[in-house]
Amino acid sequence: MTRFDVIAFDADDTLWHEIEHYHDAEAQFVAMLSRYHDKAYIQARMVETDIRNLKIYGYGVKGFVLSMIETAIELTEGRVTGNEIETIMQFGREMMNAPIALIDGVRETLEQLRQTHPIMIITKGDLFAQETKIARSGLADLFTHIEIISDKKAADYRAVLQRYSYVPDRFLMAGNSLRSDVMPVCEVGGHAIWLPRDNTWVHEQVPDVDKSHFVALATIRDIPAWVQRTEQGY
Ligand SMILES: [Mg+2]
Repeated sequence: MTRFDVIAFDADDTLWHEIEHYHDAEAQFVAMLSRYHDKAYIQARMVETDIRNLKIYGYGVKGFVLSMIETAIELTEGRVTGNEIETIMQFGREMMNAPIALIDGVRETLEQLRQTHPIMIITKGDLFAQETKIARSGLADLFTHIEIISDKKAADYRAVLQRYSYVPDRFLMAGNSLRSDVMPVCEVGGHAIWLPRDNTWVHEQVPDVDKSHFVALATIRDIPAWVQRTEQGY
């Protein structure tokens, strides 16, 4: 008998590289405004604006672009030019159109796991952007369920589990973010695998977390063996 009824995966920075696009755009943005202010100051203000705006725009590139524009207007005291705003919009278009680069081992691991368990995507963000990324990833056919939700708090996971009649104790979620993929899943009584990445977005870093409710694995390739060990004798 299997221990888990479903294995769910986060998408951005779990299945494919995403945060690098944000860092690249942010570096170009900071360079563009560096004649107005110190780079560290620009970056700090941009991060502050972006996090503040999450509750207005939600997660994703479009909100990030609006936050860059807002930061540029503030930091230049309104002197930012139309051409500079066009450049910022171009950063956003490049992010949206960037080819999907799968993280090493993703396809093989998913193909292996789906032999024994239904697999699922649970991702947060802009519906259109996430749909197109999933389609362009070439992975969509591997998944039994795909859920694109606007946030990943405990209540959001509870709603997803209810929608599919999954029992929390038999639900396993894997992702790169402690804040979004691990802690809320543990909170609802599920199980989580944390796949840490070096450059996890500052908003996603959660210090001093109780590590007894989940396991951290080095790469997605380690999941099948962990699942097999966990399910042995179950
Ligand atoms: Mg992620």
